[in-house]
Amino acid sequence: MNDQSFLSRRNSRTNLYGRGARPLDPGRWISLAIDAAYAETYAGQVALLTAANLIGRMTPSVAIAVPDGTKVRDPLPWAGQSLSDLLFEQLFAATPADKGGRFMARGPNSGDVAIAFGSCAIRGAALVHGCGWDSYFGRETSPVRASDITNPCGPAFAAILCGANLLAEGLHTSPTSYLCNTLDWSARAAPQGAPQPDPATALGELWTIGTGSVGTAALYFLTLFTRRFEAGLIDKDDVEIENLDRSPIFTAMDDERPKVDATADYLRSVGVATVKPERAALAESKLWRNRQEGTPDLLITAANEDHVRFQIEADMPPIQIYGTTGKNWQASVIRHVPLRDPCSLCLFPDSGPIVPTACATGKVASPLDGKQIDATLPFLSFAAGLMTAAEILKLGLPNYPFSKTITQYSTKAEDKLVSARLLPRAGCLCQSGRDSALHGRMIAGSRYAALSE
Ligand SMILES: [Zn+2]
Repeated sequence: MNDQSFLSRRNSRTNLYGRGARPLDPGRWISLAIDAAYAETYAGQVALLTAANLIGRMTPSVAIAVPDGTKVRDPLPWAGQSLSDLLFEQLFAATPADKGGRFMARGPNSGDVAIAFGSCAIRGAALVHGCGWDSYFGRETSPVRASDITNPCGPAFAAILCGANLLAEGLHTSPTSYLCNTLDWSARAAPQGAPQPDPATALGELWTIGTGSVGTAALYFLTLFTRRFEAGLIDKDDVEIENLDRSPIFTAMDDERPKVDATADYLRSVGVATVKPERAALAESKLWRNRQEGTPDLLITAANEDHVRFQIEADMPPIQIYGTTGKNWQASVIRHVPLRDPCSLCLFPDSGPIVPTACATGKVASPLDGKQIDATLPFLSFAAGLMTAAEILKLGLPNYPFSKTITQYSTKAEDKLVSARLLPRAGCLCQSGRDSALHGRMIAGSRYAALSE
């Protein structure tokens, strides 16, 4: 296969998306340069790794400048390696040179779209800066407090804001400065002294239903911070070149391999000890069918097809946290705490494969358009995955939750981040027809059961 067909297949979903979305012009180089102080921090490395991963899947023409001798910091899984070597290894794995990848180690040239990573504004460059929960993307000096807090959420989201801007506003527009935080998802810094996640905390057994772009993005961002979890992976599909633009872990070598195998290989490579991949639809999954009380601790439900939500809700699930991407430049994160929050069928009504359609004359429950579609944009899957990972990392913190049940990031809206309460849907399975006592027993032994009390 020549590089043209590889890159055009990889860009196909952006072309299908409509709404003015166009793949980036490969004739225009994008240069990423990180300042020496930020390059030495975990936060700076997360921001640069995320931006390179995302932007390198949107254009084959990326130049990167990292100070000589910079080593990857803990708790990144590649700690001790050369940051520059790691960046290029990951870029060429996703887009090999013989398929069009032409990544270069060099500083910004005139004519490049210049992106600077650090706290100080650089003339002619857009600035990416994130620390702790806080994220900034703009032209001016960063309002984010520089720190060495170990939290991937703010830095990764700042990088995603940059990727969003490149696709939404084109390569010639100067970005409007935007500050937000990934703790309560609002357009201001997180409170000083806000609790931070601890990389020593074990997350428990996480099962990902659907290891497509959003599911793998959630797992990728978790692994930038911790490998202390067990992973169950359920998906029936294979990786295609058309998926490579928006999963941060799929590589060109994964083409035509089962998504669960590609995902399992990545998780094992970064040090997740227990990984259980199963290539199956949920209805055929042995892992799901043989599920024991108290297992798993959390579900990342990143699939919509085959009545998967109906099946999950009918089987009395533990807490679910997942992201979706939308048709109008938006991504969302949604959580369902069992016995407290409305369930996923309140948001995505489905009466299942057999039961006749229930009377659904009640008002529409969803305050936001969270419908999933196949044609999505690279940064939206990254955003949905990062938002999911952020909500999972907050689970053990005092005063959780910090936002309402659904949070939506809308690239092109004035208010880019909006949180809303999910309303129960009249006639839904969770409102009648599900045994609360039994559900309580089913989840009692799971790590996050106390949230349901
Ligand atoms: Zn419901």
